[in-house]
Amino acid sequence: MAEFSIIDTYFNRKNLHSVDLGVGDDSALLTPPPHQQLVICADTLVAGRHFPLDTDPYAIGWKSVAVNLSDIAAMGATPHSILLALSLPQIDHDWLKAFSQGLYDCCDQFGVSLIGGDTTQSPHLTLSVTALGWVDQGQAIKRSSAQVGDLVVVSGTVGDAAFGLKHLGHPLQKRLDYPTPRCELGQMLKGLAHSMIDVSDGLAQDLGHILKASHVGAVINLDALPVSEALKALPESEQYSLALAGGDDYELCFSISEHNYKKLLDKKPNVNTTIIGQICAENTLKFQKDGLDHPLHFTGYQHFA
Ligand code: ADP
Ligand code: MG
Repeated sequence: MAEFSIIDTYFNRKNLHSVDLGVGDDSALLTPPPHQQLVICADTLVAGRHFPLDTDPYAIGWKSVAVNLSDIAAMGATPHSILLALSLPQIDHDWLKAFSQGLYDCCDQFGVSLIGGDTTQSPHLTLSVTALGWVDQGQAIKRSSAQVGDLVVVSGTVGDAAFGLKHLGHPLQKRLDYPTPRCELGQMLKGLAHSMIDVSDGLAQDLGHILKASHVGAVINLDALPVSEALKALPESEQYSLALAGGDDYELCFSISEHNYKKLLDKKPNVNTTIIGQICAENTLKFQKDGLDHPLHFTGYQHFA
């Protein structure tokens, strides 16, 4: 089957909404809504590196979209569409069917359209997704605007995906295979959070990016880390290591004034977020337990280690 037939069979569904021209021409066409900035990001998944070769193709499809929508969410933006660059070692219809189903299911859940891409043959299965979204002009939440005194807050629970990777078959493997981008929360934080990042390489490292970009430090309360029951049952050092250095969480970590955090809770009382610490002027990341310093040394996922 030729490249075009793969595209037509698996990647040319009707678009959900506002796309002027989608799959089928040399480029796609979109009309930006008035007073919005384009938000754009890309993420590549390589088989054998980012997921085992025998991973369920449906999950690969889901995750390849979800990790990008997480980056869009982390700017406080609304996701709109994706492009897919697909390099396949061979044509495997069962694989393509399940993969495209996972990809479209994630797209549908978050109101996103697949508007184009590229399909090639290569010895390694590689998927590169580019995501596009919109944010009100000047309202994107960057890493560089954390302020001294801000609360440090994280959504959901951290360390689940790393636990799932260690204990394949455990229910928490779902968190590894089917991350949930926090799109609604991200948009809700527009105008409220001062800085934000999505946690993909481990909370300590990713929070470190905010601190570095903002020229500030933080004190994190280890007792406050939101972790699942399965992690609570582990020895403390292992628990902290998974929660702070485990990758693939795709939760949002943000800094926000106390006043604005109250506003968020007023807007959405049951929002699933936890205060884990505070931004300070001293340029380091410190951990405390029972109010006392509790030094820990973590590095997150290193792509070129
Ligand atoms: P060109 O040769 O002009 O780059 P292609 O032949 O690569 O165009 O692609 C034809 C059309 O199919 C384009 O609109 C492109 O965006 C789309 N397309 C190609 N591969 C994919 C894919 N994997 N998913 C979605 N759209 C795709
Ligand atoms: Mg062309």
